[in-house]
Amino acid sequence: MSHRRYLELAAGGALDDLEPDERTLLEQHLGECRSCRLGARDIGEVVTALGMATPRRAVPAGTWALILSAIREAPSGSSGSPVPPATR
Ligand SMILES: [Zn+2]
Repeated sequence: MSHRRYLELAAGGALDDLEPDERTLLEQHLGECRSCRLGARDIGEVVTALGMATPRRAVPAGTWALILSAIREAPSGSSGSPVPPATR
């Protein structure tokens, strides 16, 4: 399964809209894949923000695309490069 697919699962997870086997797959992958873990965290933040504006179970068809594009446009270092430890 592609990383993009895991990010879609992460979006579903953030909306509490996953089958149990999908959630298991997602959690396994997030344990192994740092970039998806960061992506899933970003998705959680976006979904939380969207959740303030939309009813919980009514997910418009374009929501996934919106979330994924918001993540792609985010200027964070979530492209897989390691974040250096904080300087002291
Ligand atoms: Zn991944």
